[in-house]
Amino acid sequence: MSLFKPLETNSEVIKDIPDTTRSERVKCVIIRSGPAGYTAAIYAARANLKPLLFKGIQPGGQLTTTTDVENYPGYPEGITGPRMMDDLEKQAARFGTDIRWGIATSVDFSASPYKVIVDEKNVVEADTVIIATGATARYLGLESEETYRGSGVSACATCDGFFYRGKDVAVVGGGDTACEEALYLAGMCKKVYLIVRKNYLRASKIMQQRVMDAPNIEVLFERNTRELRGNQVVEEAVLIKRMGQPDEQEELIKIDGFFLAIGHTPNSAIFKPFLETDETGYIITTPGTPRTNIPGVFACGDVQDKVYRQAVTAAGSGCQAAIEAERYLAQK
Ligand code: NAP
Repeated sequence: MSLFKPLETNSEVIKDIPDTTRSERVKCVIIRSGPAGYTAAIYAARANLKPLLFKGIQPGGQLTTTTDVENYPGYPEGITGPRMMDDLEKQAARFGTDIRWGIATSVDFSASPYKVIVDEKNVVEADTVIIATGATARYLGLESEETYRGSGVSACATCDGFFYRGKDVAVVGGGDTACEEALYLAGMCKKVYLIVRKNYLRASKIMQQRVMDAPNIEVLFERNTRELRGNQVVEEAVLIKRMGQPDEQEELIKIDGFFLAIGHTPNSAIFKPFLETDETGYIITTPGTPRTNIPGVFACGDVQDKVYRQAVTAAGSGCQAAIEAERYLAQK
């Protein structure tokens, strides 16, 4: 039986290192491969740290599930997410990053050199660790959500909106992401319902205004989703209006697509026994830096950023992490 659980679970780290089939020592290990991880790799490789990068469970990160990226500086015509990640990987490799398939399944930061266990069996000992594990979209946890995942249920309007051109869809959430997704979908769908559990939107005022001004977006306040139904694909959602109140009532909306935009969970579970995290699991870093509470361990990208969550900010923090790693090693 394996002692180590997969990264995506809320597993705690088990500190006994298993029998290893392979153990190696590096100056710098980078965990995962989104814009933060690859940018850290480019800088660390150019600083001669000979970084070792493990691509992780979703190589390329969240951007591989988007279509066009139009707000990353330097691409006047835009670029697709997968293409950008491909280019970043090539750029990191060009300067000598050792890029490998592998999932960091646990860590031991109790003493330096720090240990990263990959695929539950290989131990990498590293003087510095750069965590770039990103965040994962949240789902409501309904059984029917699982049933229709990929058949009407999505957590990425920019990836899947295209399939719902001219159709009716719903977006769940009341934050900036939900408003952004609803507006994006409103540009191609016949009707967009925005399902909000409270009686107000949490999004910024400008986004709220845009949503309210869109003729084909209907905001359904004080609604929770009970169930999705349909023959093979989503056809309707069962909503509960004013759930738990004396006047609670059930409603049906006919939809073809159901988009989740209720936030993200930072992929920090395996680090929690060693690193300070906030109440939602974001790794706490010294403001303005990627430094964690453990010297030599740095966090960059969405795993430590719940505010901006942009490719360009992730890349910037990856750069900072590599520079910090270099300085830490120089001082050591
Ligand atoms: P968020 O601000 O945390 O909002 C999440 C929304 O989902 C909230 O309305 C929340 O409802 C709702 N929600 C959470 N769990 C739910 C559940 N189980 N059932 C129904 N609704 C649920 O997340 P976000 O919108 O992803 O934004 C995250 C951060 O990124 C924010 O700081 C945001 O400003 C920023 N952001 C900025 C931009 C931009 O500037 N262009 C774009 C996207 C995101 P409650 O309000 O009831 O808790």
